[in-house]
Amino acid sequence: MKPLSIHDVHREGVELTLQSLLAYWKQHEHYAVAWSAGKDSTTLLTLIVHLVQAGHLPKPKKLYVFYADTRQELPPIQLAAEQIIAKLSELDWIEVIVVRAPLDKRFMVYILGRGVPPPNNNTLRWCTRQIKVEPMAAALETALEQLPGTALMLTGVREGESAIRDGRIAMSCSKDGAECGQGWYQQVLPEAKGIKGRIATLAPLLHWRVCWIWDWLKVWAPMPEFGGWPTQILADAYGGDEAEEINARTGCIGCPLAARDTALETIVAMPTWAHLSPLLELKPLYRWMRKPEQRLRKRGVERLKDGSIAKNPQRMGPLTLEARSQALEQVLDIQRRAGVDLINGEEEARIRELIEAKTYPDKWTGDEPRADLWLDAVYSDGSVQPILFRELVS
Ligand code: SF4
Repeated sequence: MKPLSIHDVHREGVELTLQSLLAYWKQHEHYAVAWSAGKDSTTLLTLIVHLVQAGHLPKPKKLYVFYADTRQELPPIQLAAEQIIAKLSELDWIEVIVVRAPLDKRFMVYILGRGVPPPNNNTLRWCTRQIKVEPMAAALETALEQLPGTALMLTGVREGESAIRDGRIAMSCSKDGAECGQGWYQQVLPEAKGIKGRIATLAPLLHWRVCWIWDWLKVWAPMPEFGGWPTQILADAYGGDEAEEINARTGCIGCPLAARDTALETIVAMPTWAHLSPLLELKPLYRWMRKPEQRLRKRGVERLKDGSIAKNPQRMGPLTLEARSQALEQVLDIQRRAGVDLINGEEEARIRELIEAKTYPDKWTGDEPRADLWLDAVYSDGSVQPILFRELVS
């Protein structure tokens, strides 16, 4: 029987990917992959390694793999990532760089230690940039500092899902099937301070359909001919045999920006992962934290440096210290019951230290009233309407 070759795998799709890679390969001195360990960027990474090993792409002196570890990934994704990293480390031309936000900016430390409420889709979308894009830009900058020339950053962005439908690369991860952060890498990274002009991005899977992705991850990539990658486990995170239909998005466990955590709901329905069901309590906990009872509110008119009045005079702000302590205990309890590590020892110690030190975000002191208390209404022009029936609320 004729040995299998890459041309047996969705011929047109792979051919186009190869052509786009070849067209840019010679224009750069260094190559890197922005890898989130989700399905698209894992397909890209394993495919590139195969293309090099099979002689379709020239072997680079070094391929840098930047793994964005948010510490909030779904356990099957985390496990697959660890196994893939172990395989990659056998290759001397690949360097895996694990990228994490600095301690104080990590998801749990920022929320529970500093008191910034969990992100939402409106005014408080701080997370992707802070826990993924900025650490990635910083890691790239460090790597590029020591290297001459330009780098080509490869991303797993595809057009089919979160990508360029309306003429721009969607940067939200709220849509089904997307991997949080991938559009940001494509669009924001090249502009990042320190690497601007020295990095170009390319999305070689832009034209791939989701069924090709699954064929690669479930059928081809695990075959010895294509590298024997442990990618089947990833399918669990997306719904096992029904991954394609369920089309779950991935990102942080209990992502507060997604209406439902389809990936987690699907995983815990499988006997192998049923022990993770306490993680379902995270999403309601994030919702609880965003309520006025758990937060502070500006009392009234806030003067800005230039003397003008801030737009939203009584805006809600950070979490109270009590709410943070309570939520910390709940997360620790959830992770103990689920047998995972969302907050490690170092992070827990830092959170407790920040709470102890009464740390608040900039422009907040902790002396503000709790956001569920009734206050005189203050309007953006500075006028005040006293509470009616004050005696009823005092
Ligand atoms: S998955 Fe959700 S919480 Fe995590 S970085 Fe993306 S948007 Fe933020």
